[in-house]
Amino acid sequence: MLASASKGARLVTPLVQSMSLSRVAGVPVHLKLETLQPTGSFKLRSATNALAQIAEEKCKRVVTASTGNHGHAVAHAARALGIEAAVCMSSLVPKNKVDAVAALGARVVITGRNQNDAQVEAQRLVREEGYAFVPPFDDERVIAGQGTIGLEILEALPDAASIVVALSGGGLFSGVAFAAKSIRPQVKMIGVSMERGAAMHASLAAGKPVFVDELETLADSLGGGISLDNQHTFAMTRDLIDDVVLLDEMSIARGIVHAYREEKLVIEGAAAVGMAALLDGAIPAPRGPIVIVVSGSNIDIETHRRLIGAA
Ligand SMILES: *Cc1c(COP(=O)(O)O)cnc(C)c1O
Repeated sequence: MLASASKGARLVTPLVQSMSLSRVAGVPVHLKLETLQPTGSFKLRSATNALAQIAEEKCKRVVTASTGNHGHAVAHAARALGIEAAVCMSSLVPKNKVDAVAALGARVVITGRNQNDAQVEAQRLVREEGYAFVPPFDDERVIAGQGTIGLEILEALPDAASIVVALSGGGLFSGVAFAAKSIRPQVKMIGVSMERGAAMHASLAAGKPVFVDELETLADSLGGGISLDNQHTFAMTRDLIDDVVLLDEMSIARGIVHAYREEKLVIEGAAAVGMAALLDGAIPAPRGPIVIVVSGSNIDIETHRRLIGAA
């Protein structure tokens, strides 16, 4: 599942011990800094792996409809591999995001009024113009790409007792959990979501993928459903997860502020949930080191300033 050419665009990120969180937890706590990826999130791992395989299949054009970290990563990886990328966006997407994707050399297709319209257009490009679609989470190449985080963690810290991961569509969780438990079956895998619109949590509780209303949250990169015809990440998450934690908005804000004040890190809400869960006392105390995956840094800078100022 892992393409040989999957290095290149993505970084092997550092794993650093947090002194303040280690004091709180009473065991060593290490942070896996995906904030340092060139596009500011781990999504570059999946994009790099998926696009390397698509390139091997001699397909030269990829398309996605995500305007967030996934779309950004696909545009970046495409440029690194010399593949043409198109990103479909609705007229609602703010200009700064459109400009950021265009600046990476991707074709920007503005269409319709919402994300669903953008997805319909992406499917049309697949049918009519020979583009390959790059899904954001429910895809073997994507899951394998995220799994490289699990491999790197256990290479650096073979006695890791638990790994804490943000949980949305479950590509990150499935990849890290599968890789980590293959090497170290006893490692505990903990997924953290926001209370407001936790689609995977609701689906796990229902025993099948269910629809959940998307709500505004500080953890915006964790918004969205898991798809009712989910092929991989629902079953993998169900089978590999040891604990799920849900957080309110106050806790997520506290995580962002802690990261800034104590770790000197600017991180987005989705990336703060692991630290926030630990500060809330919601992570079961293990016998050994805890690893928290800090998934991304792409926070709106005004939002960040407001949170830091208010604290
Ligand atoms: C996409 C994303 C997640 C969640 O990943 P899933 O594979 O959808 O669960 C977490 N944090 C950040 C910063 C992301 O961009």
